[in-house]
Amino acid sequence: DALSNKIAAGEVVERPSSVVKELVENALDANSSIIEIDIEEAGLGKIRVIDNGKGIREDDVLSAFKRHATSKIKNENDLFRIRTLGFRGEALPSIASVSHLELITARDGEDGTKLVMQGGNIITQEKAVGRRGTDITISNLFFNTPARLKYLRSLHTEIGHISDIMNRLALSHPNVSFRLRHNDRSLLHTNGNGDVLQVLSAIYGINIAKKMIPIHASSLDFTINGYISLPEITRASRNYLSTMVNGRFIKNYSLVRAIMEGYHTLLPIGRYPIALLSIVMDPLLVDVNVHPAKLEVRLSKDKELNELIALEVKKVFKQREL
Ligand code: ADP
Ligand code: MG
Repeated sequence: DALSNKIAAGEVVERPSSVVKELVENALDANSSIIEIDIEEAGLGKIRVIDNGKGIREDDVLSAFKRHATSKIKNENDLFRIRTLGFRGEALPSIASVSHLELITARDGEDGTKLVMQGGNIITQEKAVGRRGTDITISNLFFNTPARLKYLRSLHTEIGHISDIMNRLALSHPNVSFRLRHNDRSLLHTNGNGDVLQVLSAIYGINIAKKMIPIHASSLDFTINGYISLPEITRASRNYLSTMVNGRFIKNYSLVRAIMEGYHTLLPIGRYPIALLSIVMDPLLVDVNVHPAKLEVRLSKDKELNELIALEVKKVFKQREL
């Protein structure tokens, strides 16, 4: 019901950036190849996500707004076995309960639907003509909760979070073209050509591509691919070190340490490289006891993994010194 949706909203859609994340992940789960995101006032004014994915069938539109009515997988025991990003069926009902929402969606060759909701209540539902895909607009986010005031005071911080999340999603989906605008200013544009270097350039600047060194390493348990910046390119925070496991972004401090150990004395204290490491491993070696919304995970055999990374980074820079 409306109340339990609103309570769930507090967990699932903690802040404007979580709404962006959930909506864009839905677009990715729908196999979109182009996703456009328009934000106004750091998400408190408007969040609009337009995709060219498979769309929602007319008969299924309402059930998409019922809790736990996910069309995806039923078993969440192993987060890293699940191929779709969303699987709990909580995002749409939660978001709808704390916002004004307008959805236009159409499947290929079928009638489209336009749905308008306010605070979780259906205002109108009608047939609509539209191209294949989904166009969802959230406005007045948190209008019926105290959280709105809190985020209104920190629009600047919030757009930073939105940007971070979009950068991660773009890095982990180089085959998808993303366009992110905030108050009509472009914050990110990737072309979806599948080249992660292109995504790195889109995020960190066009000149970065020439300064990134490819990294490849593998053992029986792990395959590692990625890029790491030359020692001359550094940043003052480790936020520029991105790590993915089986296609999902994760946070794991010992991985960061392993990368830093590889650089050894090449970097001044307090400076970090820009890096992207994508690790492929048996899902069973990834700790399953993590909250799906949390990025922090524990990895088994992490000692072996960290050594592999540190060694490879060291090797790459030794080769370049010679
Ligand atoms: P979940 O993603 O966990 O299944 P959500 O509440 O995020 O739950 O979405 C509910 C359902 O709505 C999804 O399972 C999917 O069937 C449908 N859906 C949501 N967004 C889209 C989209 N952009 N394109 C196609 N289907 C969508
Ligand atoms: Mg979802």
